[in-house]
Amino acid sequence: MKGFQPPPRFGGVQLSREPLPITKTITVTEGISVKDLAEKLDVRGKDLIATLLMKGVFVTVNQSLDGELVKDVARQFGADATVISVEEQLENEAIEGFLEDTTGMVEITRSPVVTVMGHVDHGKTSLLDAIRSTDVAAGEAGGITQHIGAYKVKIAKPDSPAFGREIVFLDTPGHEAFTRMRARGAKITDIVVVVVAADDGVMPQTIEAIRHAKAANAPIIVAINKMDKPDANPDRVRQELLSHDIVVEQMGGETQNVEVSALKKTGLDKLQEAILLQAEILDLKANPDRPAEGSVIESRLDRGRGPVATVLVQKGTLNTGDIIVAGAEWGRVRAMLDDKGLPMKSAGPSSAVEVLGLAAVPNAGEPFVVVENEGRAREISEFRQRKLRDKAAGVATAARGTLDQMLARIVAGEQKEVAILIKADVQGSAEAIQATVLKQAHEEVKVRVLLAGVGQITESDIQLARASDAAIVAFNVRATSQARDLAQRDGVDIRYYSIIYDVADDIEKMVRGKVAPKARERFLGYAEIRKVFEITKSGKVAGCMVTDGLVKRGAGVRLLRDGVVIHTGELTQLKRFKDDVREVARGYECGLSFANFQDLREGDVVECYDTEMVPG
Ligand code: GDP
Ligand code: MG
Repeated sequence: MKGFQPPPRFGGVQLSREPLPITKTITVTEGISVKDLAEKLDVRGKDLIATLLMKGVFVTVNQSLDGELVKDVARQFGADATVISVEEQLENEAIEGFLEDTTGMVEITRSPVVTVMGHVDHGKTSLLDAIRSTDVAAGEAGGITQHIGAYKVKIAKPDSPAFGREIVFLDTPGHEAFTRMRARGAKITDIVVVVVAADDGVMPQTIEAIRHAKAANAPIIVAINKMDKPDANPDRVRQELLSHDIVVEQMGGETQNVEVSALKKTGLDKLQEAILLQAEILDLKANPDRPAEGSVIESRLDRGRGPVATVLVQKGTLNTGDIIVAGAEWGRVRAMLDDKGLPMKSAGPSSAVEVLGLAAVPNAGEPFVVVENEGRAREISEFRQRKLRDKAAGVATAARGTLDQMLARIVAGEQKEVAILIKADVQGSAEAIQATVLKQAHEEVKVRVLLAGVGQITESDIQLARASDAAIVAFNVRATSQARDLAQRDGVDIRYYSIIYDVADDIEKMVRGKVAPKARERFLGYAEIRKVFEITKSGKVAGCMVTDGLVKRGAGVRLLRDGVVIHTGELTQLKRFKDDVREVARGYECGLSFANFQDLREGDVVECYDTEMVPG
């Protein structure tokens, strides 16, 4: 092959065949248009289009490109491209903006965002309603309670240390909403309140709630509810929590617990104080002086108002008139309403507001960001829509949790944990399987059971599994058809079993796959030194008889004298008569010499071994 030809810069369209040597690096945002990429690469748009065409990709100058393609085509033009997400890009810009303007970046304390979870009928809804009724602003002029998926409460009690402070409650309780959001990568909840009825104690969904919170790394506050009931037994609740690794303060642990009655509205202020104390520990901060960023909490199509999304602002401030991209949708914020249905002009960190003005309904859990102009918004939205279409068509994108992929990641050394979600027909088998699964742990690889429950596999299980990259072990149970569809869509691996040993086998394989391969020594053979020759040029040579197995050039050797290892090294020379040979088997004589070792004596034994890599 001849040296590379510089691409013609003038005249006809350049059809680049040989990639140019890498001479520069560029950073581009996902979904960059052909035109912008050409500019970054310092090439003409039509050259870029032509090169793409040669790869079988038909594009116009305004079309956006996905990350892999950008990298690939950039390489053709001698550039190493790093593709960053829109969020990263904006983050960078915001930070750059800040560096120029230091007045902007004052982090302020933001209100905690709380999710309430617990067993059915333990009083989640009642508690949320009761807390809401304590809000100072609730009774203020004009406001009529709107259920928008979240509300903010201001502490009203003047003698409370938390007076005037605010808490945001997500009032789409249920583990479903929580995991769905987490599955989309949104870290929305700062604190989880787990409600346990004092007369009923810890129940399956209580345990599930605890697992969810732990999986999300959100601190838990236990609300022991229904304290007004005559058979309320909070001590039993605290006791039962112990077996789920929740140690409350009275028992020397760190988890706060508060006795409440949603019905009689007692203990609510204590609960709020506990939340604010936890928030202080978490030291929740955000910068209000930057373009807003956050997550979609709820969304729906309203007959009169069009697409309506409740968003939680997590950073920056959202203003009416801002252009936002939420998931794959975009729009200009036409109006914002708070949880009392009152219009707002701007919403800072930890505000939940209803947003009007999106072109279509985004999915709950999707991130939203403010972008600088409509063109940009359209571009990002188009790119994401295309990605969604591709995904639906099965073109691209990775499923996350299949065993094979886990294995691949393991080999790549990324992940040292096997996460498993267990569903079984009866409690006894769920427990037995959990014990079996946990037994497969290895010093290098953790096995984490997110949940060991009873009953069929539901969508909520799939979401939890997906959010934690877990595989699902189904023992004598099946998935609902919705769960099956969701699992398929999200690439969650469900494995069905009816024999517990098969579970053990498979989990062991997964764990083994994650253990870093280790060098293992394999015995090859013994040779005895019968005579030592002095050869001036190459030092000493041992005349040997192979007594066991074989000896091999390049293999590891140990020299044993009276059963004691006196040298470990490499067998550098192996001869039969005058000829160099690769190996010599038992019963034959040979000449050996070692690298950097001369103290050879008659009667010494040479042990020969090689090393192989085995899964740990
Ligand atoms: P959820 O399923 O967890 O949302 O529970 P709900 O809030 O719907 O409450 C279930 C039932 O328990 C309802 O009949 C409530 O009236 C009742 N309940 C909730 N909180 C209390 C409480 O503090 N005391 C008593 N006695 N009943 C309560
Ligand atoms: Mg309810």
